[in-house]
Amino acid sequence: MITDLDLLTIDYELIEKTDINTLLKYSLLPIKEYDIYILVASTLNNLEIESIENIFSKPIKSIQIEQKTFDFEILHSKSKYDLFIKAKKSLLNKEDIINNQSHISHFLETLFTIAISLNSSDIHIESLKNAIIFRLRIDGILVQFFRFDIELYPIASSSLKLFSKLDISQKRIPQNGRFSKFINEKDYDFRISILPTITGESIVIRILDNQKAFLGLQHIGFCKDVYDSIKKNINFSQGMILITGATGSGKTTTMYSILNELDKKKKKIITIEDPIEYNIDGVMQVPINEEIGLTYDLVLKNVLRQDPDVIMIGEIRDENALKIAIQASLTGHLVIATLHTNDAIKTINRLLDLGAKPYLIASVLRLIVSQKLIRVLCDECKEKVILDNLTTYKSVGCPKCNFSGFIGRTIITEHFEFDETISKMVNEKLDISDILSYANYKSINDNAYGKVLDGTTSLNEYNLYEI
Ligand SMILES: [Zn+2]
Repeated sequence: MITDLDLLTIDYELIEKTDINTLLKYSLLPIKEYDIYILVASTLNNLEIESIENIFSKPIKSIQIEQKTFDFEILHSKSKYDLFIKAKKSLLNKEDIINNQSHISHFLETLFTIAISLNSSDIHIESLKNAIIFRLRIDGILVQFFRFDIELYPIASSSLKLFSKLDISQKRIPQNGRFSKFINEKDYDFRISILPTITGESIVIRILDNQKAFLGLQHIGFCKDVYDSIKKNINFSQGMILITGATGSGKTTTMYSILNELDKKKKKIITIEDPIEYNIDGVMQVPINEEIGLTYDLVLKNVLRQDPDVIMIGEIRDENALKIAIQASLTGHLVIATLHTNDAIKTINRLLDLGAKPYLIASVLRLIVSQKLIRVLCDECKEKVILDNLTTYKSVGCPKCNFSGFIGRTIITEHFEFDETISKMVNEKLDISDILSYANYKSINDNAYGKVLDGTTSLNEYNLYEI
């Protein structure tokens, strides 16, 4: 039976103490030393128990783990050992707050450094019944990286609250904040959200990387059609551009990259965001704060009195916001907004559902871009699969890709540019399929399948993301 190593707290000192050749020879990870035995994990089901007992001079109990799990642990054993030692030190002298603060700070900074080096977008810190776990979101997928005794939780939580100037004593209501750290010669901003749960708290830290947010439109990975269409439409002085997609589809990066393309010197650009993720010089960014009544509607109405050229709306959420946004885009403003829909064409239906009149949609909309992110196969280890004369690639896993088989993600899109004929069709409430055949529409699925055929991604990944 294969055991899930994520459910065990590993003593990394024990791994560090054991000769690496022994570990590799037996595919062995010592997990924990008890009074009368040592618990070890191995990928082998016919482990040479006697030889291993000789090495440890103690009886062993063994569990079986997957090869990928073993490889991942060996690859990261140094970082995990580092975290382990710092976590242990944080638990010593709990009363000596000043000294302790420095230990836990070192622990957290090591964690941030590891998360950044592995290209994580978020760090999840969760208190379970008996353990604290640290998970990293890499290319959209959560991976547990470290697990420790639950005693570490209150210390880590307090320290993070101190970093972000939140109320340390408050454990019963959600808190949000942010903090900055200088890591690997670079400034990083971290946005933190703390949510009370039945077993303690769930903490999520979003890593904000300025360099990634301002990639520049040409580096996001748009195909030429979409790139050209965005470039063309952002130069108009009025109308509406919508970027749509699910949460985590990279809409924010696209929005910020569009803002960066605009001429900030000659144009007044105002954004309405909830929350503001990155500061951009030369752009007036307004944060929403519903708690004090600073709602989208209120801000939007007042933004119009500011003589803006371009208004960027974080997300159109309701009828009223849409009404004001349409009004703005009819009266000499370019409105760029995001909407939570799965594909470009459904966006028109969503706008109709939100009460927009077809003739208004037809007259203001210039472009809808719908986007998703799909994982890119690791070049080092991907394997060719030929089935029915069709050549595709599948993921395997190697040290370069953290044994996930993938490195990074690429954008897949569908876009829908409005011309006179399409506007007329929308206005006359023609069937969507007529519009699609007129526009020679290539769907997001077609584009994703193209990425399977050219070996960028796997068929499994495609099936996972199919709408
Ligand atoms: Zn690989």
